[in-house]
Amino acid sequence: MKKKYSITIFFPCYNEEHNIERVTREALDVAGRLFDDYEIIIVNDGSRDNTGAIADRLAKENPFVRVIHHEHNKGYGAALRTGFENATKELVFYTDGDGQFKIEEITKLLPLIDKYDIVSGYRIRRQDSLIRKINAFMWGLLVNALFKINVSDVDSAFKLYKRKIFDEITLTSQGALIDTEIFAKARAKGYTITEVGVNHYPRVAGEQTGAKLSVIFKAFKELFKLRSSFSPRS
Ligand code: UDP
Ligand code: MG
Repeated sequence: MKKKYSITIFFPCYNEEHNIERVTREALDVAGRLFDDYEIIIVNDGSRDNTGAIADRLAKENPFVRVIHHEHNKGYGAALRTGFENATKELVFYTDGDGQFKIEEITKLLPLIDKYDIVSGYRIRRQDSLIRKINAFMWGLLVNALFKINVSDVDSAFKLYKRKIFDEITLTSQGALIDTEIFAKARAKGYTITEVGVNHYPRVAGEQTGAKLSVIFKAFKELFKLRSSFSPRS
């Protein structure tokens, strides 16, 4: 039977040489079972390790895999924007290139995309330190209050979108604010969002970047910029 949607699956990767092959193979396996028409994009965000070379090899071995390299590290938001800009299918799904989610759980999101424009997987039991969970909770309160986006887990990296949304909104965030920016701008255009619980796993290799002070400062800087330029009706 012909599957209903075509899909682009992508992951941002910065220094993920120990994770990228496993995650790409998982995506190929899941996409091959669930979709007739799909592509996998690895966004190599200027990695300094072997991520780029491994990604090139995976693309050479498999016609469904493409790689886009940033010449230097541009940040999480920039990596996501590259993924969205290069997606060609009806749906676009991203998760992190570090394997903290099981791509298989996209089956929880898919039935909801008939009814909603964005389906976001909230982390059922987030595998991070207590301090990070507290920070994330406060951040969530702040961005929900500022932009009325009304989601419980803004920054969860397990999201399914109708690709057409990205033809209608212009994104500017280079850093971690990107998820907030997408939700805020999509809501302002009248797109609908729902959430469903997914599992979250500890990082097994490589270093996390999300708790770095430089990442947090950049997110606040971009938050003030977005807030001052943003009108919910625009
Ligand atoms: N990442 C990226 N560019 C960056 C920082 C991170 O593409 O400048 C990728 C990283 O490889 C991972 C994802 O973004 O796949 C999330 O990063 P990380 O796991 O460090 O964040 P956390 O899970 O700690 O929030
Ligand atoms: Mg991670």
